[in-house]
Amino acid sequence: MGRAIQQFFFKTAFFRPSLAIAPDPRRCYLHPRANAGIMMGLRVRGCKKNIDIQREDREDFMGELIASLQRLQEIELELNRIRKGEEAKLRQISGASRKIVRLDDDLLDLGRTSDQLQRESNALELEVKTREAAVTKHREELLKARTNKDYATILTAINTEKADTSKIEQLALEKLTEVEGFQAQITTREEEKSGIQARQDKVQAALDAYRAETADERERLEQSRKEASTTLPASALSTFTRVADHHEGEALAEVLKIHPKREEYACGGCNMQIPLDSVNTLRSRDEIRFCASCGRIHYLADTQVVRA
Ligand SMILES: [Zn+2]
Repeated sequence: MGRAIQQFFFKTAFFRPSLAIAPDPRRCYLHPRANAGIMMGLRVRGCKKNIDIQREDREDFMGELIASLQRLQEIELELNRIRKGEEAKLRQISGASRKIVRLDDDLLDLGRTSDQLQRESNALELEVKTREAAVTKHREELLKARTNKDYATILTAINTEKADTSKIEQLALEKLTEVEGFQAQITTREEEKSGIQARQDKVQAALDAYRAETADERERLEQSRKEASTTLPASALSTFTRVADHHEGEALAEVLKIHPKREEYACGGCNMQIPLDSVNTLRSRDEIRFCASCGRIHYLADTQVVRA
């Protein structure tokens, strides 16, 4: 900014604060809060510093109820940031637990079926042995046969026994092959399960480390929240909590001036336009007013608040 323009700007800022926004209207859209530094005639580089100045001066400009809610929201958002750091890990852990439960169910079913087939195969093999013993006995009888008729009868019995035995043997073998198939599936599932368990343990360790890292900060914030809550009326606190739960801790939304010259405003939470009379009510009364569209609680940037 040239020196002449700067001087003009500072003068304007001093006598007619609302006009001081005009030289750089983009600020209204990009970062409405940044206007405060300019309007108070302060040339401050960088948004963060601007905001720090506003925070110091906020008490003078704003009603105590809305200011308290803003403090509470800042704490709530910090706590939410910490919680968000846990969320992905918690999701991974519970996802892994669900997969492990499914795999355990599968393993139980596969184990039962495999055991059943193994029992059937064992029974068939036992039957094969019984029939083989019978064949051996028939062979001994064959040697002792006295007539051709006896010999033929015994031979027929042996052949029938052999044919049946062969069928049973085949069936027992098929069942054993099936058992092997099920055992292979069980091995695959078990490997999958131990892989998932190892990953889950790793995420759990990371979660524990994160919790230990953030414990002090969390405790400090929770204490601050407790303190901030005690300054608020119970009804305002319960309203705040309800809206915050609905919007991930973001209960408040700033009223944004969306046109540098016209009195047009929008909700900083949902971008829907806000009627001018609502904005004027906010300027004159320290009370909770909700966005008609998203339900967040509106507050005015320091630049929009009229000093009482
Ligand atoms: Zn809204």
